[in-house]
Amino acid sequence: MQPQEHTNSIVNDVEHDTEQREDTQSSRPRDGKINLLSCSRRDLEALVTELGQPKFRGKQLESWIWDKGVASFDDMTNLPKALRAELAEHATLRTSKPAAALRSSDGSRKYLLRYEDGVSVECVGMPSGNRLAACVSTQAGCAMGCAFCATGASGLTRSLTAGEMVEQVIHVRDDFGSRVTSVVMMGQGEPFVNYDATLAALRRLNDPSGLGIGARHLTVSTCGIIPMITRFSREPEQFTLAVSLHSAVQRTRDALMPGVKRWSLLRLYDAMGEYAERTGRRPTYEYALIRGVNDTDEELTYLCDFCRDTLCHVNLILLNATPGSHFEPSSQHRALDFARHLESVGVETTIRNSRGTDIDAACGQLRQRLG
Ligand code: SAH
Ligand code: SF4
Repeated sequence: MQPQEHTNSIVNDVEHDTEQREDTQSSRPRDGKINLLSCSRRDLEALVTELGQPKFRGKQLESWIWDKGVASFDDMTNLPKALRAELAEHATLRTSKPAAALRSSDGSRKYLLRYEDGVSVECVGMPSGNRLAACVSTQAGCAMGCAFCATGASGLTRSLTAGEMVEQVIHVRDDFGSRVTSVVMMGQGEPFVNYDATLAALRRLNDPSGLGIGARHLTVSTCGIIPMITRFSREPEQFTLAVSLHSAVQRTRDALMPGVKRWSLLRLYDAMGEYAERTGRRPTYEYALIRGVNDTDEELTYLCDFCRDTLCHVNLILLNATPGSHFEPSSQHRALDFARHLESVGVETTIRNSRGTDIDAACGQLRQRLG
């Protein structure tokens, strides 16, 4: 098989996967109601027109949803009562209820939200000075099966719709009572196997008449679905990309991240080079340090080689130990070694503090315990 054909068949596979999940990506949840949180101004205008109302009602509706942040149609006092009743019948403003909430001593708060079909996901709010970051899930569970991840352990339940993702951000905003200044799609799930819904959510969050969060403050983290990295690099917005690398040694990465085995590190390297060239933006590599697995001298040498002379940033994090897993985090000392070496070959590096470890903030842990 020619390499080119191989690439195309993978693109088709992933796009086919995406098509199969079409029903979960539309703004219509299972009860047939339209989730207004995934609707653009144009969608809202089309909806009110369909309900026999003038177009300007769409703008009024948008203002109630985003500027005033109401959760009930009854509160939309400048809309005619008949329209409010129609909207309540055909549309929805909230599709989830909090099933659990935990507060960390570092100020972060973690929520388990349950949707109407009983499926639950996690989201986290992380305040820092006058900023507030929300960590959002894109799927309930995940099919990628990473060996160190609590979400991967339970498999995929279903993908989320754009509205369901946006709702997690709204939940963080309302609980903290302050504006969310950045969003990371780093909760449960693999955003690039739910590409269309993820992009639609990012656009709602970015839209000045939606939440108005700057594109650079909206980050997607992928385990490395290469055809979708390429697609993402062609999107017009300046969204930020993070890639979970976790090892630059092929056999280690294959063992840790079996779901992306089909895409070699060499192909990832090339795709990221093209990404940087096309967008001029600096992608981040996530690297969770696991004692004796990806923190050896050999691993460090390969990591330096993978990153040197490329536009990238490395985020080192100590593995969050998950119950039942035999993996242990490396020492803080080892993380500093890694950071020093990477910096010495010119690679921008940070050691990210794990937030909310006292509330099981690692991906998927709360859901595993309470879900
Ligand atoms: N599926 C996407 C995004 C969700 S996971 C991805 O894999 O990138 C968000 C981040 O948490 C990823 O970098 C992932 O590798 C990391 N992660 C998962 N389990 C972890 C753990 N136990 N300790 C530290 N990081 C973890
Ligand atoms: Fe899925 Fe990301 Fe967890 Fe891997 S790390 S199983 S891709 S959520």
